[in-house]
Amino acid sequence: MNIAGIQKMTLLDYPGRVACTVFLGGCNFRCPYCHNSELLAGGIEAVMTEEALLKWLQKRKGLLDAVCVSGGEPTLQPRLEELLQKIKAMGYHVKLDTNGTRPEVLRSAVEKKLVDYVAMDIKSSPARYEEAAGSAVDLRAIEESVKFLLQGAVDYEFRTTVVAQLHTEEDFDAIGQWLLRLSPERKARRFFLQPFVDRDTVIFAGLSAPDGEGLAHYVDALAPYVEDITVRGQ
Ligand code: SF4
Repeated sequence: MNIAGIQKMTLLDYPGRVACTVFLGGCNFRCPYCHNSELLAGGIEAVMTEEALLKWLQKRKGLLDAVCVSGGEPTLQPRLEELLQKIKAMGYHVKLDTNGTRPEVLRSAVEKKLVDYVAMDIKSSPARYEEAAGSAVDLRAIEESVKFLLQGAVDYEFRTTVVAQLHTEEDFDAIGQWLLRLSPERKARRFFLQPFVDRDTVIFAGLSAPDGEGLAHYVDALAPYVEDITVRGQ
């Protein structure tokens, strides 16, 4: 298990819970706006062993009530389920962050009740997905993950990191229509738009968040297709 980083406490990552976030190294995307670019290569040095993480979590029981498992892309880790099992056995709620490229891993973890909450990225409209992901994308896999979450077997959110250079109002209308096509009966429960924040660790220089007016247009475009839409961090 490549434990590439840990945030010891967060009130933001898991809605309504006091959590820590564990970052697992390696990702199959190269989103130009990624904040965790140092975690993307699979061979990154681990900051702690799995055993040390589990011991630390044991001591934190009562102070934290949830663990967010993030990345990188956690579903690429061959022993993800074992780790989730051990964390669940301690009584923690578990949130899984995913880019949705491994629907079979997502489904299995949910069906085994190893995950209580899933945050899945919707990088962009289908036509611009590869541009936003910075790599080739199997859209059928993304759609399978979206459809699975829309069935409601686990609590979830969709989220998009919004970048002025990568998204337009038309993209959010197209995302909404895409969701509607994948699930005509049931709207997406919760969708967060997260304006991009620049950092030294971002892959690409020169990216920026849209201004307030642009964001408002994105919200308006997506709102008819989702039950609840929130701009996170504002
Ligand atoms: S999916 Fe994109 S944003 Fe998430 S870790 Fe991978 S490259 Fe970074």
